[in-house]
Amino acid sequence: MGPAFVPTTGRPEPERDRINEDEVEPGLRRFKDAAEVVAGKLSETGDELRESGNEEEAGIFEFHVEMTEDPELVSAVEERIRELESPEAAVLAVGEEYAAEFAAMDDEYMAARADDVRDVTGQISAELMGRGASGFEALKTPSVVLARSLAPSETARIPKGMALGFVTAEGSRTSHVSIMARSMGIPAVVGVGEALEDALDAKKVAIDGGEGSAITDPDNDTVARFERMSTALAEEQAALDEYRHVEARTSEGRRIEVAANLGSASEAEDALAWGAEGVGLFRTEFLFMERDDLPSEDEQCIAYSAVASAFGEKPVIIRTLDVGGDKNLPGVDQAREENPFLGWRGIRMSLDTPDLFKPQLRAILRAAADGNLKVMFPMVADVGELEAAKAMLQESRAELETEGAETGEVEAGVMIETPAAALCAAELAKESAFFSIGTNDLVQYTLAADRGNERLRRLQNADHPAVLALIRQTCEAADAAGIPAGVCGEAAGEPEMIPKLIALGVTELSMGAPAIPRAKKVVSEL
Ligand code: PEP
Ligand code: MG
Repeated sequence: MGPAFVPTTGRPEPERDRINEDEVEPGLRRFKDAAEVVAGKLSETGDELRESGNEEEAGIFEFHVEMTEDPELVSAVEERIRELESPEAAVLAVGEEYAAEFAAMDDEYMAARADDVRDVTGQISAELMGRGASGFEALKTPSVVLARSLAPSETARIPKGMALGFVTAEGSRTSHVSIMARSMGIPAVVGVGEALEDALDAKKVAIDGGEGSAITDPDNDTVARFERMSTALAEEQAALDEYRHVEARTSEGRRIEVAANLGSASEAEDALAWGAEGVGLFRTEFLFMERDDLPSEDEQCIAYSAVASAFGEKPVIIRTLDVGGDKNLPGVDQAREENPFLGWRGIRMSLDTPDLFKPQLRAILRAAADGNLKVMFPMVADVGELEAAKAMLQESRAELETEGAETGEVEAGVMIETPAAALCAAELAKESAFFSIGTNDLVQYTLAADRGNERLRRLQNADHPAVLALIRQTCEAADAAGIPAGVCGEAAGEPEMIPKLIALGVTELSMGAPAIPRAKKVVSEL
């Protein structure tokens, strides 16, 4: 519960639309000054982030600075001012034009760039109207963030500790905003649809992430109820602290390893503090998505090696690039697809683009010298894909050895997230060192229900006989081959799913780190 914060990545209203002839010259100057002020603030934030080791986030700010200086954008705004549009109206209109062009590309990555351009032009117009910063920089007190959608690049810009929770019009429980909220340890109410519009004027918001409800400007009774709830939650959390660093074991003595899902190297220390016994899923795509160019082999090696070193002997599973579907990549020619989730994504794309795949494999092999790294391939549908990926891994190792580079041992495993992989699990197990079941996608593909569609909530659930049957089959195949079968989809951290997964034969659980203590408790009580 807390004050509502609506980031003005949306559309701020200009105070005036038109200006007089004699205001053109001053208007042009004011626009230039405002753009400079905004660029200055953005690069300051970028520098601070870089100094504190947040390379990826710093990259976003640099991109925004470039946008404020984009010659085409600048001259489009100047032209409108000369046509007697007010500078704030001109910059907003140009921002919208650019954003519409990006959005029309019908591509999630480009749609995210639409938000970037709105964000930047919104800040310039706010500066022109004397309102100063308007994005997350303005978030100075811990607040509940209300937005139509929140891209990973946006959540990454929220100053630490300033978001108490999220309410978004779009999204589902396995969409990226939910995944980010879970790893930040804050509640999120997503997929509220048009109801968000009515909430935007609220001063205060109370949200219940467990129930999925948000109450605007709560009355005294509601405030009291939420205060009781949050005290109870804090007590519960404190009671869970004793489970952080235990080794989870069922009463029959079955040992279940509880690990963390990470989106960036900067989350490693927090994850260890929550009690992570390893990393069950390092989503490497964020390293690629939050910047405008591709990270080099060396840059990747630094990120993987940072996680490997932080975890020491504990296993860290690096998942190779899983773009496509709802995640696109700058610098890669991804043609528009009718059905992106059934398209060129994950291992399919990696195998077709060795220029992208090989440097990643080489970076993983090199970073493995600093810890206990494993590699995992996403979206595998048949044994041939696994064999081809392993062949490239071998090839990369041979190259590095010829070059005399230091490498480490790297086991290769497969994500079981297509029904095909689950049905071929016995074959795949012969070639894999481990399985990790991605229930988010396994549910989506088994039940033919888009994981981001807020109308299909009923079907976005791993607790379905068809999904459970595939998980059972996967675990049986793993057991027969003597390899571990983990789960790294969101179901792994859901207390009501954990007993079912373990009963089906799952041996490892990997989740957003704040869910770890509770998961260990649930396992210990089985
Ligand atoms: C999954 O599909 O369950 C998974 C863990 O991968 P992602 O959510 O990144 O697709
Ligand atoms: Mg997946």
